[in-house]
Amino acid sequence: MDSLEIWKKVLGNLETSISRPNFVTWFKDTFIYEAKKGIYTIGVPSIFHSERLKKWHEKEIIKAIEDQTGDKVLGLKYKVASPSADQVIKFDNFKVIHSPVDKPEKKTSQNISSQTLPKNTTLNDYYVFENFVVGTSNQLAHAAAEAVANSPGDAYNPLFIYGDSGLGKTHLMQAIGNHILSKNEDANILYVSSETFVNDFIAAVEAGSGRAKDFKKHYRDVDILLIDDIQFLSGKEQTQDEFFHTFNHLHQNKKQVVLTADRYPKAIRGLEKRLQTRFEGGMVADISEPDLETRAVILRNKTKSTNVEISDEVIYFIAENIKSSVRELEGALTKLIATSELRKTTPDIEFAREILESSLEKNQKSLTYDVIIKEACKYYKIPKEDVLGQKRNKEIVRPRQVVMFLLRHEINMSYPEIGKEMGGRDHTTVMHGCEKMEIEIPKDSKLKDDISTIKDILRNAIT
Ligand code: ADP
Ligand code: MG
Repeated sequence: MDSLEIWKKVLGNLETSISRPNFVTWFKDTFIYEAKKGIYTIGVPSIFHSERLKKWHEKEIIKAIEDQTGDKVLGLKYKVASPSADQVIKFDNFKVIHSPVDKPEKKTSQNISSQTLPKNTTLNDYYVFENFVVGTSNQLAHAAAEAVANSPGDAYNPLFIYGDSGLGKTHLMQAIGNHILSKNEDANILYVSSETFVNDFIAAVEAGSGRAKDFKKHYRDVDILLIDDIQFLSGKEQTQDEFFHTFNHLHQNKKQVVLTADRYPKAIRGLEKRLQTRFEGGMVADISEPDLETRAVILRNKTKSTNVEISDEVIYFIAENIKSSVRELEGALTKLIATSELRKTTPDIEFAREILESSLEKNQKSLTYDVIIKEACKYYKIPKEDVLGQKRNKEIVRPRQVVMFLLRHEINMSYPEIGKEMGGRDHTTVMHGCEKMEIEIPKDSKLKDDISTIKDILRNAIT
């Protein structure tokens, strides 16, 4: 078996144990660069890929190679390299079709000639699956979006995607529309923000029955309805009533509805119960903050269309410092590139630090231990002494774990430090508390919402 054969089999094997989107993101364009005396060197597209594979998949890779070759693997190394033409493994041969990392960026709609401009001008054609980098933070939402795009009205209806601002909700939602449009250019796809829906509705009501009919037709005569930021419907009872009927009409006719919001349906205050129930009736998927390597790959992809050379070091520097929003991440990179072009220099870390100072400040501005404790206690309405104390009742244990989790993740305190500050707890207790949170957050939407609300509060507290 040559190394291409081995790697093909290894990938085939790994694919069954790793989620599909993650698999494509992290294994596409990998290959066996060299195998010598039991040491395998894997060729990877970037150092971010090597870090990711090392951190998350090393054991699986070793086991898969050993299973395929029957030999003992003594070590894995990684090398950033491109596969030669005959080493490229076509991912279409696997179940996977989309590759988020290697397609060149498309130009935005302004640059397309009117001939190719789809009928549907509400969609931005940059927002496609190919330009979307998948990581653990968004893989569920991404997989659900792909499923919906492949069988609209059938897979999950409605699909409800929620998460904080700037994490890719609009991108994924529009990717569904663009994908469907690419398969069927006559598909009638309507993308609007819920604000537009509200405004259209009010205008229709004010103008009388003729307009109301147009309104109904506009929103009901579609194959796919994509409504962004549905939280804006909150408190608007009449509009909600109309939306309820629109929704039912589409749903009954097996037309796909996709919704996004900044939080999960039950947590949208001022949203009618019957709408909440409808929204939860299909698939609810969240997007959270991307991890470091995912952020780095998003940045790396963005640099592909520019002439400015940006080192991995600088990419990491930005990715490490801007965590909470992909939009901000991209903004920082754009600023860096623009300034580099202007000054005709290649950015190093110092340069990056100088240019990005304001964005970095915002992200790093001294969030402190005190602020976190204070705001979390205020949120949960329990006294600080209880959180730091020894009481074991549920109403206190949960907030206590949330505080530990936030100290760990928001200001990177070590477990022993946290233990010391929180009433002299043992570091293992803290570690268990934090691990428990990691496991429960994805499963418990109330908890997740609590944490994201507290994070919002913290962000506002320091700006
Ligand atoms: P939201 O609607 O959640 O506020 P957007 O969908 O507008 O966020 O995303 C903000 C920006 O970040 C967009 O330019 C989008 O293309 C980009 N983006 C977000 N997530 C990803 C991702 N996983 N891969 C690539 N780009 C992303
Ligand atoms: Mg959006």
